[in-house]
This record gives sequence, structure tokens and C-alpha cells, in this order.
Amino acid sequence: MLRTHTCGELNKNDAGKKVTLSGWVDSVRISGKIGFLDIRDRYGKTQIFLNKDLANEFRNLNKEDILQVIGEVKARPPQQVKEPGTGEVEVSATTVNLLKKVPPLPLDLDVESTEETRMKYRYIDLRKPEMRNALVIRHKLTMAIRKYMDEQGFLEIETPFMAKSTPEGSRDYIVPSRNFPGQFYALPQSPQIYKQLLMVGGLDKYFQIVRCFRDEDLRADRQPEFTQLDLEMSFIDEEDIYSMMEGLVQYVFKEVLNEDIEIPFPRMTYDQTMEKYDSDKPDIRKETGKKYSFLWVTEFPMFEFSKDANRYIAMHHPFTSPNKEDMQYLHNDKDKVRSRAYDLVLNGSEIGGGSIRISDDAVQKEVFTAIGLSEKEAEKKFGCLLNALKYAPPHGGLAFGLDRWAMIMAGKDSIRDVIAFPKNKDARCLMMDAPSEVSGEQLDEVGLSLKK
Ligand code: ASP
Repeated sequence: MLRTHTCGELNKNDAGKKVTLSGWVDSVRISGKIGFLDIRDRYGKTQIFLNKDLANEFRNLNKEDILQVIGEVKARPPQQVKEPGTGEVEVSATTVNLLKKVPPLPLDLDVESTEETRMKYRYIDLRKPEMRNALVIRHKLTMAIRKYMDEQGFLEIETPFMAKSTPEGSRDYIVPSRNFPGQFYALPQSPQIYKQLLMVGGLDKYFQIVRCFRDEDLRADRQPEFTQLDLEMSFIDEEDIYSMMEGLVQYVFKEVLNEDIEIPFPRMTYDQTMEKYDSDKPDIRKETGKKYSFLWVTEFPMFEFSKDANRYIAMHHPFTSPNKEDMQYLHNDKDKVRSRAYDLVLNGSEIGGGSIRISDDAVQKEVFTAIGLSEKEAEKKFGCLLNALKYAPPHGGLAFGLDRWAMIMAGKDSIRDVIAFPKNKDARCLMMDAPSEVSGEQLDEVGLSLKK
């Protein structure tokens, strides 16, 4: 190891120890005779004292140069201590090794840079304490989720990224196949069908922290690839989902933020929220007086009329179970059909949604017909699911937008602030410069030629 300690862990109890620290020069003050510098890493900063010889040798040191410092920990006089922890000590250097002299940074960490510069030099931008903190919160969040899900008996199971187009109501990212020119994989908009197939496979309680891909126009809270906490359970109804998820939310908020969240969450049907708030994701903080106000919105309509498509489409997705007593309206009075879909709303934004699924192939076929899919098309697109549903247990689940959860927990306004390497609003990665052209040879291999 190039260090015995991090830059964030020494304190007055370490006085007298010989230590080696490695990190970045955070600030440097070298006068004619002596020098002080702060050395920084992920964990914090420690002050280094340079004697006359070292101060002289390193008088050209700059911020962000990378150093290794060997020296002795000295307690600072109490009147000099401004902060507990590393503020109580300094390391009196005996040896300083310049691990790397760096050119000036492309962005100044102490001033606000343009979004473009931040994205282009994200690897430097990530050094900002607020970026680091956001990623720490995100890490804690995913760790807490995994712990809770494991304790509840869920299995984390990976599902393919190279998949077949499935509809979540968005455009697919497609991947050409070399082995089958003219054929394409689609990156999944969600693992929806796979997780239902896992239930048919008897896996019973599935979850996955998983990337989803949707080719949509972007806004501050959208990314072409984003992360979901995706889950599915067998032999359950809505009540089981609500209580399992309330337990999750309560556990995670306690673990990550030490916040006590009251459960159960209030519930309203879609019709009630629309009547009272004219919104299906009302912010009810004023009524509850709480900092974090959760609300289940239930019984969403099964269908909505799409002007673009000029037909009814599934409001959640077509694998959602219609309400049994509304089945009679499926073909003639679609506006009347309620579904077994639910959303979890936090402070006026939808943070998760799901449904009890159709677990009967005949009902699934009827719903496909209701959204205008011919039997032939349904078979072509969803033949595998239709067949599998013949063997399916009752099941349901939901997915949470994990980036948004992390954003809310980290107190940020954009999900880009809780993603290490996000795309910009044009879906470009300015840092790696993607998307980019590929060679004619690569196109040939997959049997494609570009339109002029
Ligand atoms: N697959 C759905 C979505 O991505 C969530 C669900 O129904 O579980 O919105």
C-alpha cells in the first residue's frame, strides 16, 4: 500500500505515530522557510508540515498534484484546533514523494462550471465533495435495499440486456445482430416479461437493481439509461405488495437518513386523486405536515386513449390485470375499466409503480385484442409470454425509479447529480463522446448500410 492511513482518519490519539498518507494537494502555503499543505482523499483532509528543506524542494507544488507523505503525527495546540478529527493533528513530513505533477485542471473545483464542462470532465467533477456525498448516499441506498430484500427472502436475479422489444410505451434502443443480419436485439425498457417468467419458473420473490433503456426525449429527471429497483412476487395481492414496500421504505429511510417514516401510507384511488387534486400524483405534504409524504394511488384506469396512435393503449402496461368486475367493459366501454395498478407517490412525484398481473393466457389475449393487437401480432410479439401464462401462478410486482429515490435522499434536483456518468439532455456522453460513428467494416459485419 502507498499509505498506512487515509487522509480522513488521524486524530490526536494518533500523536507520535509514523504514518504514510497519499492523496491530492488540496491547498498549499509555502513561504521562504516552511510550508503547510492539506492533503486530500475520499475520506478527508490532513494538514502536512514541511520543514525548510522540504518546503524549498516542493516550492512549486500546485493544487491537485498527487503526493505521498511520510511523517510523524503531531497534536496541534488546542487553540489551533478548529475541527475535531483530522483538525486536531498535523503530519510533520520527513519524506515527500511527488507521485504525479499534474497540469492545471480543466475545471476549477471551487467555482460553478458550466454543465457542459462538468459532463466533459466528469472524472474531475466527481472530486467535488457534494458529488462524492451523493454517490455515498446512493451506495447506502442500494446496500440497504439489498439487505432488506434479502431478509425478506427475495432473490436477486439478473435478466438479459440483449432482449426482444417489450412495450413500456417508449422507443427501444436496438442492437443489430451479426449472426442474423437484418435482425435486432432490443435493450429492455424494463425486465417486465422476464420477471413474470421467473414467477412461472417458481422463483417466487425476485428483485433486481437493474438498468433500463428507453429512447425518449430527455428532461431533468430522465436518462436514456436509468436504474430501477425491480421486483415481483407470487401468490400475493395488493395488500402484500403495499406492506412489503412500506417496510422497505421505512427500513431504507432509517438506514440511509436516520428518518422515521410512519407506515402504513395513506391510499387514494385514481378517481379520488383526480377529483380532489386533478392529479394522479398529488403532493400531500401540506395535509400531513410531514417532510416525506408517501401516498399509494390505486385502481388506475386500465386504458387511456392515445391521440398519436388513435386507439386505446394500456395506461400502465398490457400485462396489468383489469379489475375482475370491470371485465365486462373490456371491449365496449374501455374508459370504465379499472386496473389493479398502483403507484407510490412521494412529495408529488411518482417514485414507483406496478400492478397485479394477468396470470391467465385467455385474459391476456383479450387485453391484447382490446388494445388493437391482432391475434397474429400478439402471437408474434408475445407468444412466449402467452404460452408461459398457461403455467403461471398469481403474481404481481412493481418497480421503483432508483435514480429518483437517490436524488430525493441526496437532496438534489436532477438525477444526473446521483449518476456517476450521466448523459446530457441530448442523450450524449460528452466525456467519451458517444454516440459515435463506427467503421464501414463494423457496419458490413452486421449487414447495415447508412442512408445517405
Ligand atoms: N415494468 C414496470 C415499469 O417499468 C413496472 C412494473 O409493472 O413492475 O414501469
